[in-house]
Formats: sequence, C-alpha cells, structure tokens
Amino acid sequence: RKPRVAVVFGGRSSEHAISCVTAANVLQVIDRDKYDVVPVGISTSGHWVLESGDPERLSITDGKLPEVDVTALPVLFGANRELVISEPEQVPSTLGQVDVVFPLLHGPWGEDGTIQGLLEMSDIRYVGSGVLASAVGMDKHHMKVVFQGAGLDVTPYVLIRDRDWIRDPEACRTAVDALGYPVFVKPCRGGSSLGISKVNSLAELDDAIVEARAHDPKVIVEAAAKDPREIEVGVLGGLDGGLPEVSVCGEIAISGGGHDFYDFETKYLPEGEEYTALSVPAELPEELAAEVRAKALVAFDAIDGEGLARVDFFVDADGKVIINEINTMPGFTPTSMFPRLWAASGKDYPALVEHLLTLAMTRKTGLR
Ligand code: ATP
Ligand code: MG
Ligand code: MG
Ligand code: MG
Repeated sequence: RKPRVAVVFGGRSSEHAISCVTAANVLQVIDRDKYDVVPVGISTSGHWVLESGDPERLSITDGKLPEVDVTALPVLFGANRELVISEPEQVPSTLGQVDVVFPLLHGPWGEDGTIQGLLEMSDIRYVGSGVLASAVGMDKHHMKVVFQGAGLDVTPYVLIRDRDWIRDPEACRTAVDALGYPVFVKPCRGGSSLGISKVNSLAELDDAIVEARAHDPKVIVEAAAKDPREIEVGVLGGLDGGLPEVSVCGEIAISGGGHDFYDFETKYLPEGEEYTALSVPAELPEELAAEVRAKALVAFDAIDGEGLARVDFFVDADGKVIINEINTMPGFTPTSMFPRLWAASGKDYPALVEHLLTLAMTRKTGLR
C-alpha cells in the first residue's frame, strides 16, 4: 500500500487559523499517486477530528479566519500507529496505520515539542524538529540562551515571569527602563506577532505586558534593533547523515498604514499587503548574505534542528547581524516567506512538501 500521511492542523494556539490556511495549501499539493492522505484537525479546544480539509472553508474569506470543523468524527492515535475513530460509547474503529505525520501546527501545543513527544511515544515518524529543538525554538528566552552559547548576537532583553509581574511590577518596569526605548514586548512562546507590541515609553509598557500575558504568562521584553533590515533564511534537512541546506536570504520591509513592524496584519491579512514588501532574494552584499546564511546554520544546529526551520535576523544600521528568532514550523502558505525562499532556491511549493515528507519518512524516532 501507499504510505499514509496524516496532515495535522489547527490546534489550541492563537495561530490556529494560520495553521488551517497552511494545511489547505499543503493538502492540495501532496502527490496522491504516491501517498494516502488523511487530514486531521485539532480544534481550538483540543479535540482531534477527521477533517475534510476543504480548501475553501480553510481559507481567510472576507477577513474571517478559518477554524477546524469540530463537528467532524473524533479521532485519536491508538496503539500500533493506528488512527482510530473514537466516538463516545462506541467501539473504536481503525482508519489504518499512519506512516508519517505532518504536524502543520504553529505555536504552543504543536510547534513546541508537545505533539512531537506524543508522536515519539507512539513511534510515529513526523516532519520537522524533535522534542528538544521544538521546545527551545518556541521559547524566545531559551532560544537566546542557546544562541548566545553558540556565539550568535542577540538583542538585550529582560524576562518577566508570572511571579515577577505579580510580586513586583515596579521592579519589572525599572528593569525594562534600563534597556532604553523603544522595546518589543512579546509573549515568550508565541508566533505570527500575536500579542507583540512595540513600546516607545514607560507609559505604554503596562498595557503591552498585559497584552503579552494574555498569550503567555512568561513575557520577554527586548531592546529594539536600530533601524534594522529584516532578513530571513530557510533551512532544510539535517536528518541522519545529511548536511542541512540553507536557502537564499529574503528581506521584509514594512512601511505605511501605521505599521512600524511586521505585525499580524502585514503578515497575513489582505489589508496589510500594500504595506509589506518581500524581496527574495534580498539585495545584500555577497559577504553579508554569506554571513547571514552561515549564522542560520549555526542557529539550526544550536537548537538541534531537524527537517525545516526559518531563521529571522536583523541587520542593524552598523551592519551587525543579530539573530531575532528561529521558527521550527514557519508560516507555510504559498505566499509565506519560507516557501518563497525555497522557490528562489530551486524548490517550488509541491517539491518542498515532497522533500519534507521524504526526509520525514527516513527519520527515526527515539534516541536512535
Ligand atoms: P513569527 O514566528 O511569525 O515570525 P513571532 O511572533 O515569533 O513571529 P518575532 O519574529 O519575534 O515574532 O517578532 C515579530 C516582528 O516584530 C519582527 O518580524 C520585527 O518586525 C519586529 N521585532 C521583533 N523584535 C524586534 C526587535 N528586538 N527589534 C526590532 N524589531 C523587532
Ligand atoms: Mg516566531
Ligand atoms: Mg512562528
Ligand atoms: Mg519572526
């Protein structure tokens, strides 16, 4: 029989909708002559269902964000790599074994090592990074610690844990003040710019912390890079035996419409499109591009990355290369940066999806 791929999407994080949009596109390009495909949705409440994967329903229409169909049949991974229908008070019936999972999930409970752990426990192969890399790559504090350990430059930051904010908010404000403004206030574990604010003075700080805390009780506040150019690089591979490949550099420039950084609207919504310019490849001096690409590989290895990642950098006014973050399951719609970087590096969208599945099929689970 053909290998069976479960494309798992949606999920409990605030990036649920973006995951749905991505999945709709990926489901359309997987080669059905080669693979059996099962769309599996995870609702915002955490229920797993056998989705139809209908691309029309899973797109952003008239500004309305898509959601997993919670009324679909409930499913679970059972023993022996089997996907089973698990309706209450009914005998579970199997949908057969799954050979590989494409966890197209962004943010907590998906991009952070949790589903990777579940799949490891079940001995099921999957696309992308393992438990550790996913967890480190999700946490903007721990990724910085690891990046610094690997010799990469990061922006100065202050961590505001739940207990810090509850016990002594004034000490938090003082610590942030010492960074100098502007600062970026972020949920430590998030993505798609959700919950992120650029703060220009102490007066704006509390609101931004409250906003970030709505996504994650662990908040990170970063000094803003000075007039940075935003450069992103894709990494692929890095599984047993193979050296990771690195894409060309891409650049994002945001201007107008009241947007002063790459926020959710400029990333994903049609109304933000006119303020967002993506250049692939980025117009960079050759030496600088080589430096950024080499640092992307250092970052990927620093977290023990596997399969894929997008590494986000700032090149500041002095030409200094600063790493902003790594994303182990980057935005993956055909117009997203990651697929565009690979298209410009010789792998179009269907080829990229095929490559990721091929890598995953040879991936071993466990400590190997
Ligand atoms: P994604 O995972 O979708 O790339 P994210 O939610 O993890 O995004 P970041 O990439 O950390 O968030 O930040 C979002 C955007 O905010 C950046 O692309 C950049 O435009 C701006 N930004 C974040 N941190 C800084 C900083 N320290 N200095 C200058 N700009 C910043
Ligand atoms: Mg991110
Ligand atoms: Mg992300
Ligand atoms: Mg980013």
